[in-house]
Amino acid sequence: MTRILIKNGAVLTSDGWKEPGFVLVDDDVLDLVQEGYPPNDLQIDQVIDAEHCAVMPGFINGHTHLSQTFMRGLAGGRALLPWLKNLIWPLQGAISPEELQLAAYLGLVENLKCGATDVIDHHKVAKSTVYTDHVCQAADEIGLRFTLARSWSDKGKNAEDPKAILEDLERLFLKWQGNSRVGIANGPLALWRCSRETLTVSHQMAQAYNSFTHFHVAETQEEVQMSLDEYGLRPVEWLKSIDVMDRDTQVVHAVWVTDDEIKWMKEANALVVHCPVSNAVLGSGIAPIAKMLSEGVLIRIGTDGPASNDNQDTLESLKTAVNLARISTKDATILPPSQALQLGVGNRVLAAGKAADLIVVDLNHPRAVPVQDIDSAIVLSSHGADVDTVIVEGKVLMQNKKVLVLDEQALLSECRTAIKGLRSRAGLSS
Ligand SMILES: [Zn+2]
Repeated sequence: MTRILIKNGAVLTSDGWKEPGFVLVDDDVLDLVQEGYPPNDLQIDQVIDAEHCAVMPGFINGHTHLSQTFMRGLAGGRALLPWLKNLIWPLQGAISPEELQLAAYLGLVENLKCGATDVIDHHKVAKSTVYTDHVCQAADEIGLRFTLARSWSDKGKNAEDPKAILEDLERLFLKWQGNSRVGIANGPLALWRCSRETLTVSHQMAQAYNSFTHFHVAETQEEVQMSLDEYGLRPVEWLKSIDVMDRDTQVVHAVWVTDDEIKWMKEANALVVHCPVSNAVLGSGIAPIAKMLSEGVLIRIGTDGPASNDNQDTLESLKTAVNLARISTKDATILPPSQALQLGVGNRVLAAGKAADLIVVDLNHPRAVPVQDIDSAIVLSSHGADVDTVIVEGKVLMQNKKVLVLDEQALLSECRTAIKGLRSRAGLSS
């Protein structure tokens, strides 16, 4: 057992920030989380001095596509569907399992360096089971908590056979169900690409494995119109009508939802994953977060894939969420920093007996000093690059901003080489 003492920092507890405070990690759980200075007689293996730092739960990146890590920097000036059809889908079609694994390593390391301890990957490439397995293996090696929402579509271009979708989903649930950090979820691509039958059966399967369904819903006005044309119902309305709207439903985006749909998501205890940077980059719109918060809808923050965000910095997405919520309501009291921070960490605090997952955020930088309000210093003044240390399940994955689980520079070099071959095979200019 390894005992790690983190001392002299501001610690986020159930009773707010305690400064100074200290945390004692005992193997994979938090043994002590207290205000003040630690007693001298503690038996410890490692000490982390967190002076001028915040010690807090890690961020949950509620929605990304790691396969897009090799597709960043391509969204500029394109609408959602042309961007997907002309760039993203050709690259996804050409990527090899080894390249996808490299992209996953890169995206996971970026998430780690930005302080995410939990990542939900909406895994869009499912040409063969090898791809999915490669991504899960990469996540298992890096050491973050990771859920792969296995994407599928059984309508339109590249549709999969429903039977094959369900068989692979069940195979993945069974394969990873004993892993404490890596898990599987049902990840329908988008409503207009999925049949009612497969949606309902896959959702029931996810629930049977104590998991959930995670998908893009009401991201654009075009998508809402397609739902109205096909079913005569708006997306959330349709999901409610087919019993795929409950506490095991994660609605990603929810940009174009009505007051009634917000009410139904609240009644169903569904989770909304808000991706404000992606919505802005793609010109999709501004999700009515202020309304959702006032109705009590559970909300998390997602960066979305690097292709529609260009980075995996949850802190940037949090600040953007604050700014968009306020500008869309013309109300400066919406989403104060303390509430925004809780969206970022999934309403978690550090407490004895909880899993030993935490991050140390450096606030000793010119953007944050003087720190007069810790929540503001983190949400409004800091960047992902200010995260100093990440611990998951008691294991130090990064310390002093250095990734400890792999050779970061070697990874970057491999990725630079791999993208050249991928672009060529996808028919894009080099
Ligand atoms: Zn997405």
